Amino acid sequence: MIHIRSKDEIEVMRKSALMVSATLTEVAKVLRPGITTISLDKLAETFIRDNGGIPSFKGYGGFPASLCISVNNVVVHGIPSTYELKDGDIISVDCGFYKNGFHGDSAYTFAIGNVKPEILQLLKVTKECLFLGIEQAKDNNRIGDISFAIENYTSRIHPYGVVRELVGHGVGRQLHEDPQVPNYGKRGDGKRLREGMILAIEPMINLGKKDVYTLNDGWTVVTKDGLASAHFEHTTAVGRNGGEPLSSFVPIEAAEKLNSELNSSYYDLPVLSSVH
Ligand code: MG
Ligand code: MG
Repeated sequence: MIHIRSKDEIEVMRKSALMVSATLTEVAKVLRPGITTISLDKLAETFIRDNGGIPSFKGYGGFPASLCISVNNVVVHGIPSTYELKDGDIISVDCGFYKNGFHGDSAYTFAIGNVKPEILQLLKVTKECLFLGIEQAKDNNRIGDISFAIENYTSRIHPYGVVRELVGHGVGRQLHEDPQVPNYGKRGDGKRLREGMILAIEPMINLGKKDVYTLNDGWTVVTKDGLASAHFEHTTAVGRNGGEPLSSFVPIEAAEKLNSELNSSYYDLPVLSSVH
């Protein structure tokens, strides 16, 4: 069943979602070549607990960490490890924060140092198509309108691979609720959206082909062709005229800018196409 949240419940969820953004911002501040992904996970878990929250992912289905950290060809669900980030890597950091009965869920992909232009473009396009999906999260639309907006935009820029095995989802009292929100599909297909539904919209886009597989650890999802993959996610409230992100990239982007001497910025890239 798909829940409709009251205004009060949405405000509680906004607090959890913004705490995910704050956690990702703490991670963004320390990103640099040489740092291990397990140290990012420790920092995030400490920050979450210091703020009275519970890391949603830790122990979820047996997942061993507070963050999913997915480097380069890892699509999602990467397990933090002693791997040291290096110049030219990209990392998707996915985080959940649970407090007062509700989860927030958001993810951001960061560039470490000098990243190849075609990969910076992948990050830019993946973030843009998240916001195009959010625009479609409006009352009376259908799930397929979100899915189509994401897939259609990516295919207009470059023959990227849109991951099919993993999808967005409802989020609320449970981390994963109905409905599923695929990143591919047809306009007008699927369940009808109603104001007050809360969706985690999360495009996962590959530089190469769409095919992925899971490593023997049972978690780490990687691209079959070994090429990079990007992932951006917002907890989003379905609204009357469009979706409203409850999480925010604003503080993350500010931290990213401050780090700009260490992290390549893709905001300065030329606009590749008009969205509208
Ligand atoms: Mg997530
Ligand atoms: Mg999610």
